[in-house]
Amino acid sequence: MAKLTVVSGVGGKLPAAFLLEMDGKRILLDLGEGPQPGVKPDVSGIGAVDAICLSHAHIDHAGSLELSDRLGNPPVYATAQTFRQISETVVSLNRRIELPVKGQSRIAGLPVTVGRNGHAPGGIWFHFAGHGGFLYMGDWNAESLLLPFDQPPAAACVVTDASYGDLEDALSHQVQAIASFAAAGAVLCTPAGGRGPEMALALSGLGLNVAVCPVVRREMEFLAKTRGGIISAGKCAEIETLLGVMRQGDDWSPAEIIVATEANAESGLAAQLLHRQDEGFRFLFSSHVPVGTPAWDMLQRDEARWLPWNVHPRLQDTMDLVTRIGAERVVAAFARPDDMIRLAHWLGPRLCSDRAFALSGIQDGLLKAAE
Ligand SMILES: [Zn+2]
Repeated sequence: MAKLTVVSGVGGKLPAAFLLEMDGKRILLDLGEGPQPGVKPDVSGIGAVDAICLSHAHIDHAGSLELSDRLGNPPVYATAQTFRQISETVVSLNRRIELPVKGQSRIAGLPVTVGRNGHAPGGIWFHFAGHGGFLYMGDWNAESLLLPFDQPPAAACVVTDASYGDLEDALSHQVQAIASFAAAGAVLCTPAGGRGPEMALALSGLGLNVAVCPVVRREMEFLAKTRGGIISAGKCAEIETLLGVMRQGDDWSPAEIIVATEANAESGLAAQLLHRQDEGFRFLFSSHVPVGTPAWDMLQRDEARWLPWNVHPRLQDTMDLVTRIGAERVVAAFARPDDMIRLAHWLGPRLCSDRAFALSGIQDGLLKAAE
């Protein structure tokens, strides 16, 4: 028997939490909060689980881990890089089971294949064989200039990131637009563990001088030291070179391009520079902007710009994935139905909107429907 229950994450930009029950094991895939602060999955009906798996450390995938005690405090499975971003007070060391960024492993005894998701350093997708194959993509991105994306195996059912719905714009165009805006000086706001190192690398590759906040610098220093795996060895060397030429210090100027956390200027250097807006600092946001954040307020007042930087799949990327893995059932997560009309049309009967369904028998069901 295998069954998937959507606890949270379908129907809008909602926190990720999906319950997979397979061969007697109960596995919770992600346990996020937000991105709207305070929005958490309702775990009251889940009961004890055998494992919690984290695709990556972003808050909308890993921000509700304090709810673990209502799930029997099970072991948590993630990569070393994901665990680095999670406090030991939230997940104690004795509950952590490390996964590779790519290859075979076991989760609660079930064989699993994982691969890099191209979305966050150390971020992975999960593939469970059997019952036609089940694939949990979490967030993913096939366009990253820095983070590798490993193609997953065939799967009859997939939960995939549809955050951008029908968006088609390519990252290469977006980088040009951001470079044009930033050339006169700008604070480019980025989430920790996100696109910061990639932004610095891409913009310096266009000949611009870029400075980074201490958080992004530490991320770059870490990536340079990994010598391959999380990113390619060639990119490690590029980052090392860039770190060698970037200026250090905390005398920030409005004329500079500064890549700084946090994504919506709610904390970090971005929040500090927000208080110095009257000195001429210009702000650029490129993430999902929750209501009530400093970024939201500034954009409402027309005091900042928002330009996209893709970190999720475009419509074509999703179509390519679904075609390649041969999925017969697709759970399109993290998007409002109004934002994925073309995707829904293309998927047709493959688009799954049930909150809970059996994975086994998918092929039988489709065969019967076709007769
Ligand atoms: Zn994410």
